[in-house]
Amino acid sequence: MSKVLIIEDEEAIASLEKDYLELSGFEVTIETDGARGLALALNEDFDIFILDLMLPGVGGYEICKRIREEKDVPILMVSAKKDDIDKIRGLGLGADDYITKPFSPSELVARVKAHLSRYERLIGSGAVKNDVITIRGLKIDKTARRVWVNGVETQFTTKEFDLLTFLAENPDHVFTKEELFRKIWNMDSVGDIATVTVHIKKIREKIEFDSSHPQYIETIWGVGYRFKA
Ligand code: CA
Repeated sequence: MSKVLIIEDEEAIASLEKDYLELSGFEVTIETDGARGLALALNEDFDIFILDLMLPGVGGYEICKRIREEKDVPILMVSAKKDDIDKIRGLGLGADDYITKPFSPSELVARVKAHLSRYERLIGSGAVKNDVITIRGLKIDKTARRVWVNGVETQFTTKEFDLLTFLAENPDHVFTKEELFRKIWNMDSVGDIATVTVHIKKIREKIEFDSSHPQYIETIWGVGYRFKA
């Protein structure tokens, strides 16, 4: 069931929208205050946002911009004035659609459905986001197998990449060299656990500002390594 968040301070309008959307099978949440609406939008998962422009607390322009910075889901903006629509477009806030009050609730439902199916098609066509890990100045794109250190793309060998990614995905967990060797090189590989030490050294040279005071991969003496969260 698709989840809709309505951020709208006019309660009569909000509940009318909610009734129609629920009749069409949507799960609907209403928030009447801009600041609370923004917090909810950023912290919980919704499939589409219906956002009024004039709101107490934080306004619709700001909410739209903030949601778009973090989420790739449709935003439908609602305004009382036709003039505002040009303004919203001009600001390039990333809204997907605009509707002017008063509107018919069935028109709203139709647009919500259209945007949801368009987004589903986009995801279905492979336009999905890459799986990316970001920790401080380190960015690892698992899908593309690329790494950036403080914004500069840096080359890693296959095993260095696998080892770095494994550690970064399991922060604050101490792994022994044996565990890392088994995990990355498999049991049947030729080599020994000294290989792990060599690879850690090479990774540090690439990601650490000062290898003798590592900020990412710590040595836990007598045990192994830990990636700092
Ligand atoms: Ca309003």
